[in-house]
Amino acid sequence: MTLTPMMQQYRRIKRETPPSILMFRLGDFYEMFFDDALTASRILGITLTAREGGKGNKVPMCGVPYHAAQEYIARLIRAGHKVAVCDQVEDPSLAKGLVKREVTRIVTPGTALDEGLLREGSNNYLAAIHRAGGLFGLCCLDLSTGEFLVTELDREADLLNEIGRLSPSEFLLPKELAEDRDFMRRLRGVSGGLVNPCDDWLFEHESAVRRLRELLRTQSLDGFGCAGLVPAISAAGAVVQYLKDTGHASLAHVTRLAPYSTDRRMVLDLATQRNLELVRNLRNGGREGTLISVLDRTSTAMGARLLRGWILQPLVDTEEIGARMDGVEELVGNAASETLGRLLSDFKDTERLIGRIDCGHANARDLLALAQSLGLVPALAEALAPLHSRLVAEARGLLGDTGGLPELIGKAIDPSAPLTVREGGIIREGYDAELDEVRAVSRGGKEWIAALQKHEAERTGIRSLKIGYNRVFGYYIEVTKTNLGTVPADYIRKQTLVNAERFVTPELKEYEEKVLNAEGKAAAMEYAIFQKVRERVVGETERVQRIGRGIALLDALNSLASAARRNGYTRPVVNDADVIEIVDGRHPVLELALADERFVPNDTLLNTETDQLLIITGPNMAGKSTYIRQVALLTLMAQVGSFIPAARATIGVADRIFTRVGASDELSRGQSTFMVEMNETANILNNATEKSLIVLDEIGRGTSTFDGISIAWAVAEYLHNTSLVRARTLFATHYHELTELEMNLPGVKNYNVAVKEWNDEIIFLRKIVPGGTDKSYGIHVARLAGLPRKVIERAKDILNALEEGCIREDRLPKPEEGRGAPEGPRQLSLFETRPNPVVDELRQLHLERITPIEALNILKRLKEKSNGPD
Ligand code: ADP
Ligand code: MG
Repeated sequence: MTLTPMMQQYRRIKRETPPSILMFRLGDFYEMFFDDALTASRILGITLTAREGGKGNKVPMCGVPYHAAQEYIARLIRAGHKVAVCDQVEDPSLAKGLVKREVTRIVTPGTALDEGLLREGSNNYLAAIHRAGGLFGLCCLDLSTGEFLVTELDREADLLNEIGRLSPSEFLLPKELAEDRDFMRRLRGVSGGLVNPCDDWLFEHESAVRRLRELLRTQSLDGFGCAGLVPAISAAGAVVQYLKDTGHASLAHVTRLAPYSTDRRMVLDLATQRNLELVRNLRNGGREGTLISVLDRTSTAMGARLLRGWILQPLVDTEEIGARMDGVEELVGNAASETLGRLLSDFKDTERLIGRIDCGHANARDLLALAQSLGLVPALAEALAPLHSRLVAEARGLLGDTGGLPELIGKAIDPSAPLTVREGGIIREGYDAELDEVRAVSRGGKEWIAALQKHEAERTGIRSLKIGYNRVFGYYIEVTKTNLGTVPADYIRKQTLVNAERFVTPELKEYEEKVLNAEGKAAAMEYAIFQKVRERVVGETERVQRIGRGIALLDALNSLASAARRNGYTRPVVNDADVIEIVDGRHPVLELALADERFVPNDTLLNTETDQLLIITGPNMAGKSTYIRQVALLTLMAQVGSFIPAARATIGVADRIFTRVGASDELSRGQSTFMVEMNETANILNNATEKSLIVLDEIGRGTSTFDGISIAWAVAEYLHNTSLVRARTLFATHYHELTELEMNLPGVKNYNVAVKEWNDEIIFLRKIVPGGTDKSYGIHVARLAGLPRKVIERAKDILNALEEGCIREDRLPKPEEGRGAPEGPRQLSLFETRPNPVVDELRQLHLERITPIEALNILKRLKEKSNGPD
């Protein structure tokens, strides 16, 4: 169809803009058309209308008032869209013909700067991933703070762990990866961020290096420790280009590129992060009941973000851990800690303030907030003077001096400045002589007008005569209808109202010009001065960022100290030995949540020899899950550098903590849940080392009892017998048959949660005691049915193979008849999400008439036979 000129303009701009919802400024509204209108009206719940598009054709349209645009944009972004804002770039009243329009910014989830789109206590990352030479490069940039990270990872699983930890809100992926459906499915498993498939040139290495050198104003990237990084740099280059493309030209606050390695940190896969409820609870994803809710007693957003990072990435180096604990210890017992907390609570998010200032999004109030926070630095430094631990001293060093910024801003910016920056009222009287002069004229003009009103009222005898002002007509003299008779001849009529007439005089007109000119001039001057002040502040970006890092470090340490004081934690001994020994340990979250029941402390002893695999049995609700998580959480807390809830403890550092929770009472959820469970169990078996800590809660429960026990049994044996693994393991299970493992395996120890039977009732004692349970109190196991011989044979094969750890189908005896194994050697799909005929076969059995003990005995006999001389 033939479009109206305006719709043609719209179409052209739409075509030239990257895919996004285009908000098109029309008068006082931002309008959306065509598909954008359909999408936006649905998400925003606003009415869909139509507009003449040309030749009588209607196009779908919806719009939002321009002054409320921010809120609507935020909602579109939260719904996972990108929004391009197209503004009128010339004054509509001066335009000849169609008003010129241009896209002035593109808002995306990963580049958002508005407070409404950012969460205080967490970073907002834009991530790029690139693959080259068998390595994954990952770059994450938080535009709001300027934090710019790169790393390289060998394996996809490690990449996904990092993504799970950083949870970026937006991704740039090369087409090749974005179109790999398997990869995308796995990425989706750990992240819901918006994905932009990008052309390969965006990741081109040479241009990436050039872009980064320009951005960071350096000759080489080696100074940042980036020598030799290839896919990581390509990914970082893509990030920089994307920022340019979305209208983020000034990135003065991105001052350093920080390569990091995951080797020196404890890796927590997403399942472990979730199961231990570190930063989100399992119930509703909220903060309640999480470890962070107990440890986060920070006063600043910067401290909160840093502490969150510490919790999701604990340390493994005992020296680093010791340094944090020294800091915590010094603060725990020092009155400075409280002073610090008080001072810090007045400290604003200077990291994000300087980010907004550098990106040109800041107003005068942002500058004031920055000045007010920086003004606290001397008092903070003084409060820290008596403290000497390494990290506290380091933080104090970072605070340094404030580069005169509080003084500059204090002198220049009016404390009652408005939110707008172009309408004046932001520069202080006395800061700029020229400005003060212009202001005097404008104010003098106003006084003159007041005097004129008095004079005219006297001259005409009209006591109700008023001089007023409006945007369209300017200054006027208003006379009510009843007094019109006495209006003098030199009054010129301007406007008629219902009850009054408005007039001007030549004299008033002249003054009006003078006043308005002066006002306009003053506002323009103020804006220019504001920009100058802003630039001075931008010039101190690195200083402000350094202070921010110092504040964050202090706040995070002080938070751990405060939690330790409040909850009665003690400092554990942390070393590189393989022993975890805890006396009177408590669950950090549950101990605070219990209202009427007292939390019962428990001891733990784990090592890689005699007490490597602890089997914890006991009835439902006895406290098994709580206990094993408690051990994992205390180990993790210690490696974060925190004190822990225990009378005393020695923690031999873990390189990784794995937790896996069986699909407990979710049998009805069927295969997929069980598959996920097995998948994650496989991840543990394949990645655990002698230094790892493994917490297995009821694994094998998500399937029928028969293969449930055999899997649990085989997993336990594998962890015990495989010399490379031999990880310290806590295994809670309601299959009390597993306690028989202790008889044959020297590293296995049985424990149970003590209960007392009393008058037919069970009393939970919550105490972990040596020995297994022999009674299956609450086990909800039904009678099982007859089991075909063929299946038992088959199960024997699987069990044997499981014991060897890695099942390869080519090493399994072929099923006697029926469906054959898929082609080629590969891991048995017990540990994959792909459907597998063998597993299906097992799962479809009707095991109804034998008890678990019988099933187990069958398995044991089979095992003996297969190990025996025949
Ligand atoms: P299980 O895994 O054995 O079924 P849980 O670990 O889920 O049991 O614990 C059940 C409940 O018992 C918890 O919700 C908690 O209220 C209580 N509980 C567990 N351990 C303790 C303890 N050491 N002290 C006090 N109460 C506890
Ligand atoms: Mg449990």
